[in-house]
Amino acid sequence: MEKKQYVLGTYGRAPIQIERGEGSFLYDTTGKRYVDFCAGIATCCLGHCHPVVVKALETQAHKLMHCSNLYGIPGQEELAELIVRKVVGIDGQVFFCNSGAEANDGIIKVARRFGHRHPAADGSPRFEVITFNKSFHGRTLGSMAATGQRKIQVEFDPLLVGFRYVDFNDMAELRAAVGKETCGILLEAVQGEGGVNPVDAAFLRGVADLCRERDLLLMLDEVQCGFARCGEMMGWQAVCPDVQPDLISCAKGIGGGFPMGCFWVSNRAIDAQGTPLASIMTSGSHGSTFGGTPLACAVSKAVVNEILRLNLAARAKILGEHVRQTVEGWQFPCVEKVRGLGLLRGVALRPGSFAVPEGKTPAVYVNELCRNAGLLACPAGADTLRLIPALNIPEDVLDEGLSILRGVLSKLA
Ligand SMILES: *Cc1c(COP(=O)(O)O)cnc(C)c1O
Repeated sequence: MEKKQYVLGTYGRAPIQIERGEGSFLYDTTGKRYVDFCAGIATCCLGHCHPVVVKALETQAHKLMHCSNLYGIPGQEELAELIVRKVVGIDGQVFFCNSGAEANDGIIKVARRFGHRHPAADGSPRFEVITFNKSFHGRTLGSMAATGQRKIQVEFDPLLVGFRYVDFNDMAELRAAVGKETCGILLEAVQGEGGVNPVDAAFLRGVADLCRERDLLLMLDEVQCGFARCGEMMGWQAVCPDVQPDLISCAKGIGGGFPMGCFWVSNRAIDAQGTPLASIMTSGSHGSTFGGTPLACAVSKAVVNEILRLNLAARAKILGEHVRQTVEGWQFPCVEKVRGLGLLRGVALRPGSFAVPEGKTPAVYVNELCRNAGLLACPAGADTLRLIPALNIPEDVLDEGLSILRGVLSKLA
């Protein structure tokens, strides 16, 4: 039956075969039902097979799937307006792509072009982007080099030049790292893969101030923490809403499970002549065959409108607080605390508080126990179990998942 020998073995896959989904439930090929607290790694924000998403997909598929960016695409313009006005809320322009890694490669290109237009004092172009330890920005050559985790890069050297990594939330180290070649600082409002580590509000404000002071671009990777996940439409808005980013990368939740990504570029003036930042990306400077197809834009527009209509950001905030209070309320010795914002939550497991089989991290082990018990979650870093359910998960399903988690953790305790 299984033909996995034909698929490149780059993933540590669970020994189950997922066949079908409905809302916040997934079913494997044996018919076993799982409560889904993984949601395609924070991607299926409206759950599986949401009727609004399916209908948008079906309707647009009958009309037009793809036509190339050689022509105007009305659905793309409408979605861009929605993102600028209702999601980011700051004047700017949007480029559409298909994934988070591509979106990050895109904003790195914008930062490099900015570094050419605004060179160092000696006239040499600035090109370096500072990122953070435990960050995750993707797997392409650019986004992998931006990622501050060595394990992602092993044996893919030489890496793309122009990145420097510093500790997250450490202002002194960051200030010291800015050099003559630096043109931008890239961070996640909540580091997702790296362990669900939120940025400190004071640090984020400090980064924004440093960027203005040194003429650097403030670059936010909102791929995982964006689109209502953290309790506001964008992750940074849940931390420090008055901060004004220059570049934002998005993917995951923006498509509700359909492949979609984008980056937003601010229209703020970057010189005395009033040149808008977005205008430096001139015709021919970037492109993507599949970026922003009529089909992807129709689906994404339906997803974003549904998030806005139901105010799922506010819901994520309330449910996320419920998750934190519930899990911390159990007072299990194996749980240190619950980190994160909204429905991007990490259960920090206390190192050494329970036995872990050889060759597994505590997070991978607990995640396996949950899966066997009928709950799909996701590891983040070595010691954190990530809970990232759909934003519209019904409260009784959320509680069902939490009670499975309770059963697993109580046996560890
Ligand atoms: C998942 C993720 C990416 C990469 O997105 P892909 O769509 O897998 O390329 C980049 N940044 C963050 C924060 C992510 O969580």
